[in-house]
Amino acid sequence: MTVGSGPARALFQEPAAGGAVRCLLCPRRCLIPAGSAGFCGSRANRGGALVADGYGAVSALALDPIEKKPLARFRPGSRILSAGGFGCNLACRFCQNHRIARARPPSVDDGDGLAEFSRMSPDALVGAALSCRDRGNVGLAFTYNEPFVNIEYVVDCARLAKAAGLAVVLVTNGYVNPEPLEYALPFVDAMNVDLKAFTDGFYESVCSGTRLPVMETIARAAGRCHVEVTTLVIPGLNSGREEIVALADWLASVSPAIPLHLTRHHPDYLMPEPPPIGPRELLGLVEAASTRLETVIAGNLGNFP
Ligand code: SF4
Repeated sequence: MTVGSGPARALFQEPAAGGAVRCLLCPRRCLIPAGSAGFCGSRANRGGALVADGYGAVSALALDPIEKKPLARFRPGSRILSAGGFGCNLACRFCQNHRIARARPPSVDDGDGLAEFSRMSPDALVGAALSCRDRGNVGLAFTYNEPFVNIEYVVDCARLAKAAGLAVVLVTNGYVNPEPLEYALPFVDAMNVDLKAFTDGFYESVCSGTRLPVMETIARAAGRCHVEVTTLVIPGLNSGREEIVALADWLASVSPAIPLHLTRHHPDYLMPEPPPIGPRELLGLVEAASTRLETVIAGNLGNFP
């Protein structure tokens, strides 16, 4: 696939009646009528075929400390060129990147100039990663929005990056079907997967999704690449000690060596309340989860000692 030669045909699709198309990339399995886009906004039906509108659309690019992904046990102390795209297949009410996660990629049809300006070919993105190796860069991370909704671009870039000796990292919500996950895994060195809560109710009412596919992604990826898990702790919604211990118990059943990040949320987007959890309460949850897992890390503690 190329950037600038027209829309890229999407993988993981099947035709449906009346010119519609079904996307098979994630558990949502959107049935998309001609001229419309799927829930994530990144994949659209043009003339009866699904196209990857987000191919090459880069919304943000930054050379970040790898701990910021967060990854605590993968190349610690290094930096990684971090690229964001557009779109997400969950709709978390507390989303901290909603400006790009809930936005559609600049359209190749808009004629607004954005398409040319913001699109980077895989060669260009990997070239950018190579050019900052001397500043401590070890690879390429796909983050800020959900990378799997742009799987065609992510895998094309990852193939090149790995051939050039760069590490490839995905920061993902894990809401992806097994076949596309298997397609991407050979090109991925490390993943941080959000496990947003350990109740189905939270996933349904706060994220408009389901929990089981995320657990399946974690279980499938563990052992194939380095995996860490993040739970953004929101007081009163997913912060119960029993829930966190149950989450840690389940994660330990996959592998007790998987690091778990329990991170303070901050009010954002459609959830101005509640305020963040107190540092001492968070550390209590870290202690509880540490009875099950080898590594539990408190995130967003600020200057709390
Ligand atoms: S990846 Fe996007 S278009 Fe495809 S099923 Fe998921 S939300 Fe729908």
